[in-house]
Amino acid sequence: MTLRGRVLLAQAPLALALVLLGVVAVLTLGRVGRAGQEILQDNYRSVLAMQRMTEQLERMDSAALFIVAGERQRGEVQQAVQRARLEAELQAQEKNITEPGEAEATRRLHEAWGRYRESFDTFLARREPGAEREHYFQALAPAFQETKDAAASILDLNQDAMVRKSEALRQQSQRVNTLMVTAVLAAFVVGLFASASLTHRALRPVSVLSQAVRRVGQGDLAVRAVVEGQDEIAQLSQDFNTMTERLEQYQQSSLGELLQAQAASQAAIDSLPDPVGVFGAGGALLNVNRAAEDALRLSLEAGGDALARVEPEVREVLERVRGHVLGGKGPYQPRGYEEAVRVTASEGDRWLLPRGSPVYGERGDVVGATVILQDVTRLRRFDELKNDLVATVAHEFRTPLTSLRMAIHLCAEGVVGPVTEKQADLLFAAREDCERLQGIVDDLLDLSRIQAGRLTLNIQKIPTGFLVEHALSAHRVAAEDRGVRLDQEISPEAEEIEVDPDRVQLVLSNLVANGVRHTPSEGQVTVRVGREGGWVRFEVKDTGEGIPPEEQARIFEKFYRAPGAPAGGAGLGLSIARDIVQAHGGEIGVVSEPGQGSTFWFTLPQPTDSSPSGGPSAV
Ligand code: ADP
Repeated sequence: MTLRGRVLLAQAPLALALVLLGVVAVLTLGRVGRAGQEILQDNYRSVLAMQRMTEQLERMDSAALFIVAGERQRGEVQQAVQRARLEAELQAQEKNITEPGEAEATRRLHEAWGRYRESFDTFLARREPGAEREHYFQALAPAFQETKDAAASILDLNQDAMVRKSEALRQQSQRVNTLMVTAVLAAFVVGLFASASLTHRALRPVSVLSQAVRRVGQGDLAVRAVVEGQDEIAQLSQDFNTMTERLEQYQQSSLGELLQAQAASQAAIDSLPDPVGVFGAGGALLNVNRAAEDALRLSLEAGGDALARVEPEVREVLERVRGHVLGGKGPYQPRGYEEAVRVTASEGDRWLLPRGSPVYGERGDVVGATVILQDVTRLRRFDELKNDLVATVAHEFRTPLTSLRMAIHLCAEGVVGPVTEKQADLLFAAREDCERLQGIVDDLLDLSRIQAGRLTLNIQKIPTGFLVEHALSAHRVAAEDRGVRLDQEISPEAEEIEVDPDRVQLVLSNLVANGVRHTPSEGQVTVRVGREGGWVRFEVKDTGEGIPPEEQARIFEKFYRAPGAPAGGAGLGLSIARDIVQAHGGEIGVVSEPGQGSTFWFTLPQPTDSSPSGGPSAV
């Protein structure tokens, strides 16, 4: 049933009570009305007939008296008129017998009237004077009285009945009154009760539904509205249940996926052997992997300051890398193994090299930072071993090489006796090789010295021309041998610089040596020095064979030599140059194209107030 039907049904009891009440009222009022009518019909007509009969009897009596008094003519006319009327009234009464005993009384009246009529006829027939009078008093007057009495008894009978019936009618109408009041009250109570209960039943689903809606609002998605039936509310409840079911499914599925994704990412970073920490945009630690918990004692449970229990050196490194990445400077790459930080662990010291990468948000902004501390303990140990070995070997080679070279030199020059031309050729070749070997050993010693001392610089103010000239003069003989011209261009802004002269000279020397070695005759090697704000920039440009792009990234590596490079080096020159430039805080690089020559450049920072072109400094 529809909701409208239910609401209408709820009104039905009241309407029904009203209809019932109406029917009862119509019926009872009809009955009362009929009772009144009955009184009129049954008794009033008899009363009227008897009153008229009595009156007509009186008139007949007076007619008889007229005759006795000698007015015979007048008396006869009058009695004839009354006699007909009396007959009519008597007939009317005989047709309207309604009360018990009335039939008997009417029969007596009929008989009395019959006797009176006969007696009157006899009276009329007497013509002799005095006889009329005698008959009147002896026969007619008693018969008159008897008839009148009979009529009076019927009149009484009917009048009594009227009084009785009207009393009964009064009582009945009083009962009807009481009945109507009771019926109204009962109908009102029953109708109201039934309506209220039906309304309540009709609206109960609404309250069930509203309760369910409230609980969903409080977050309970498991709730369902149970409403039976086919009406609008039941339909609404079904739709509501479908909606909450979908919501629940959605919540479960999205939550499940999220949990799964989180577990997967946690498993991924846990599987990394190196410690990993993830920081939020505000710098708070968001996540760590197991390696970080074990090795660094980083933990999320530490609350506000997650780095509190971490060793100070590690903490400093973590904060530096985090600051770099969150500061928007992009990924953090370490410069070398020397940046590795030492962590004491139960199985011995470990060296961890920090790297950082930004976590980008939807709009490309940095919303976090991932810091990985790569375990480079073994690599570092290898590196140290190699350096030690190289340093020892170079050191041990140096003295024997010097005496070897000296001995060969003395033999070749014929100081210890004459040598043949062929012997002299061999000895010269041996001396050349010896010198090349000594160059390599010198490079190795430079390198090991640079690394062992962690490069403490001895910064001095020095004329740039002096430095450049020194570097060029060391290679002038070799350049002339190859037919390569050496040039220099020093900008007036960079006539004096503040650097470690010995080290920068070594850099320049290495670059010039490479330039000369890789440039064919008729070529040129130029050293340029210029100034760029707070930096001095050196360029060593040659017109040689150039370097293919894929090699350019590698030539600065230690011991790297390009395939097919001319004999003479050990792949250390550029590596040493890079170490020295970086120790100064500068950068080194190459611009080259195969066949077009190469330009090696490096920059070194300069104190700005020492700039010769700076002019008077502002107050
Ligand atoms: P080496 O002492 O063997 O020259 P370097 O470290 O100085 O070692 O150089 C590494 C490699 O870079 C060389 O083997 C060479 O192939 C390449 N290279 C260096 N300078 C130049 C240059 N000016 N032109 C072309 N190739 C060069």
